[in-house]
Amino acid sequence: MSFVCPSCKRPILNRRLKTCSYCGAALPAELLFTPDEIARGDNEDNEQKAKAAARRKAADEAEEAKNKAARHTPALPPMAGF
Ligand SMILES: [Zn+2]
Repeated sequence: MSFVCPSCKRPILNRRLKTCSYCGAALPAELLFTPDEIARGDNEDNEQKAKAAARRKAADEAEEAKNKAARHTPALPPMAGF
């Protein structure tokens, strides 16, 4: 099944819109995403974003831990008897 505008025969750019982006003709429901499909798509998007954010956070935390360890490791041995 190809998603083309029945009016201008151009491919539908955004199946979330109820009208053709080229000619503005109303598109039949069967060519559009159903609300279910849109919700699923949004969830997938959010999941991807959440995963990416979690990866970034983990990387940040690892970097932070490394920096902290470096800061807490004295370059010189602590002075004894002080
Ligand atoms: Zn059109």
